[in-house]
Amino acid sequence: MDEILSSKLHKMDGIYLHWCPGCKQEHWIFVDEPSGTGARWSYNGNPEIPTFSPSVNIVGQCHYFITNGQIQFCGDSKHELAGQTVPLPNMPH
Ligand SMILES: [Zn+2]
Repeated sequence: MDEILSSKLHKMDGIYLHWCPGCKQEHWIFVDEPSGTGARWSYNGNPEIPTFSPSVNIVGQCHYFITNGQIQFCGDSKHELAGQTVPLPNMPH
């Protein structure tokens, strides 16, 4: 079950979900429990203006930071928003 933290951030089983406007799909950020590869992120606890660190790197697809509610795509992302910073969008319904 999705837990709705804000219009931008949902949570499911300790995993934070947000919409990626570059990939046009949800991405998952593991905070409460590590991912299958042992990766784990810190979260500022503010679902309206979230910050996660370190960066999220879906290798060969998408590489970004979420800082103060902004999603900053690194230049090695493989989509049209590479190198750009945009507000974290609302989750689609
Ligand atoms: Zn993405």
